[in-house]
Formats: sequence, structure tokens, C-alpha cells
Amino acid sequence: MAMTDIGAPRLAETLPATTNGLLIIDLDRIAANWRSLAAFAAPAACAAVVKADAYGLGADRVIPVLWQAGCRTFFVATFDEAVQAKHLCPEAVVYVLNGVMTSSEAEFLSLGIRPVLSSVSQLERWARACADRRERVPAALHVDTGLNRLGIPHTEFLVASQRPELMSRIDVALVMSHLACADDPTHPMNDGQRLRFEIARRLWPATAASLAASDGMLLGQPYHYDMVRPGYALYGGQASIAAAAPVNPVVRVRVKVLAVEDVPAGATVGYSATWRASVPSRIATLAAGYADGLPRGASGPDDGSGGVVSIAGVHCPITGRVSMDLTTVEVTAAAAVRPGDWADIIGPDLTIEEVGRRAGTIGYEILTRLGRRFHRSYVGGA
Ligand SMILES: *Cc1c(COP(=O)(O)O)cnc(C)c1O
Repeated sequence: MAMTDIGAPRLAETLPATTNGLLIIDLDRIAANWRSLAAFAAPAACAAVVKADAYGLGADRVIPVLWQAGCRTFFVATFDEAVQAKHLCPEAVVYVLNGVMTSSEAEFLSLGIRPVLSSVSQLERWARACADRRERVPAALHVDTGLNRLGIPHTEFLVASQRPELMSRIDVALVMSHLACADDPTHPMNDGQRLRFEIARRLWPATAASLAASDGMLLGQPYHYDMVRPGYALYGGQASIAAAAPVNPVVRVRVKVLAVEDVPAGATVGYSATWRASVPSRIATLAAGYADGLPRGASGPDDGSGGVVSIAGVHCPITGRVSMDLTTVEVTAAAAVRPGDWADIIGPDLTIEEVGRRAGTIGYEILTRLGRRFHRSYVGGA
């Protein structure tokens, strides 16, 4: 899992001197992660989930790289994201997880964008639109098996499947569901949802089926069906609490040290004076804050469980409140740090999972909220 080569030294030479923060995204690693997941899931097909701007990393750069790696099916959340994906890769199969809104059926049909249908009324609207326009763009059926979020409730799904006047008008290309607890392989809901999914897909024996996202893939082959739908793992995320996905980290976030100051015992640091130096301390101020996606929750308690940054390989605790544009860290253990040096917010020794945990959230949220102010450097992807 070495990431020391992310952000090769050559990048430093080409960076504008004014750069306060740097987000390095390794596109070759994203492609390699997809290939590795595809090999892991074979003979099931491997799609790619690229919603939320490819989890914050830039769909315009990520989607073409995945297409080149061999990915042919993409899942996004919204129609606008699908339009972007189709624009980048016109031949790609693109599914919209959020489904088709009332009166937007014609737009899906005219662009060949596939909705993931999640209610009986959506099925009915889609069937009508396909009939009216004499056009049959395939769609996915999303059956709920226990997440109770989007998805046709299991019993309604069984009833709707027996309505030939409805179903004959829809070209069903995929039957899918989504797991609630796949990050924990010991959770009994996994098996329960899989068994309910078995019942649902038996109504569509000739249609491709899909159940697993990044974490579900690691539950084993019975969860793979015909297609897996990883998102987070493509971007180097480790979604399961128990098993490691065969992927490598792809992002590194570095920010500039703006100032280094010594404070005496008894001094407080930051808004609301939440941190007080018990001994003379050295404080570095970094050029990133919550507006850049460094969660305010990373301010953490003063017991070592809160957020840290990595300076020259030393973990330095965030002290005092993370503010909008600035973060203060205690650097007594990295006393040689100078203004102009780099600190890693995410880096070779600081995974997105650890950053999330230390901020009371998950790596997914860290990734998708990385700020727009960082200078973005893409590695590879040629
Ligand atoms: C977001 C999402 C995925 C991808 O999940 P990851 O945990 O990022 O792999 C797959 N399927 C559905 C329905 C989703 O909403």
C-alpha cells in the first residue's frame, strides 16, 4: 500500500509558488484499482460508481480513465451526472441511481440514459413513456431487500413482476439491490438480504443481477452475481471493517505551513480557547480549514483520538478548533518544521479511513468533501 510515490518530486517543481494546498490524484492507480477489482470479481462484470463527481476526485478525469481501463458500465446519482458521463464516453452504459423524476422520462430516453427504477409508480411512468415514444431504453429495477432507502419494496416488487401489461413494456437490463451492513461480514443482515434478493431475481432469471458495492464484494462470490458496483474501493477506500480490498490509495493532500510559533504554558489556541498548553508548546498554522474539507470535528478531544496531520513523517495533533481557512497543530515533536514546509492531511501514513475516524466520520465523507481550493494535480491517465 505504499503511496510514497504519489506526488512524485517532479510535481513540486511544476507547482506555482503561490500554491497553499495540493490535491494529488493518481489516475493510473484508479485504473489499476478497477482492473484489480474486475479480476477479483470475475466472471462477474465490474461496473464503476462515479457519483458525486467521482467521489470528489473529478468525474471528467476519472470516467475516461476507467473507460480506457475497460469499464463499460457506470452508475451515477443524478441525471446531470449522467449527462456528463455520456458526454465523456458516449458508448458507456450509464445508470442513474436516483431514478427518473416525474416528467423527465423523455430526457432520459432521448439521451439513452438508463434509470434505476425504485418504485412502482416509476415503473408505470417509464413504461408509459417508452410506449408513447416507441423507444425502449433499458432500465434497472431496484428491489429493496432491507435497507429501506430507495428500492421497490420487496412485496410490491413480487406483485409488479406479475403484471405482464406493465413489465412487457419495460426493457429490464438489470435487477439490483443494495446491502445495509456489508462493511461487517459477521452481520446477519447480509445473508437475509441476499436470500430476499434471490427470491426477487428468480422472477427475472434471464436478466443480469447486481447486489454488491465495494464492501459487499468482499463478502464472497455468492454476493457477486452478474455485476458488482464498487465506488469507494476504486478511489483506494477500504470499506470493510474486516477484509482488505485489493486496491491502493490514490489521493494525497498536502497543505502549506504558514507560521510556526512558540506559546508559553497556559496559553490557549484558536476560537473559543478550547485548547490550552500545559507546557511550552510549538504551534504550526496550516493553510486549510473546514472550507477545504478538513472537518471541524477533527478538532477532537485532547486525548490523542482527535485529528492529526503528518509533517515529515511525524503525526502532529490538531490543537484548538479547525477554522474556515486555517488549522493549528502542535508540532513540538516535529520541531524543525518551518513556514513553507508541507504537511500531509491525507498521505502515505494517513489514510482516508484514519482521517475520517479521527474526525468522527468515515473516509467516504472526507473524500467527497475535499475542497475546491486545492491545486489539483493529476498523475498519469495519459
Ligand atoms: C454509492 C452506491 C454504490 C457504491 O458504493 P461504494 O460503497 O462506494 O462501493 C453502489 N450501489 C449503490 C446503490 C450506491 O448507492
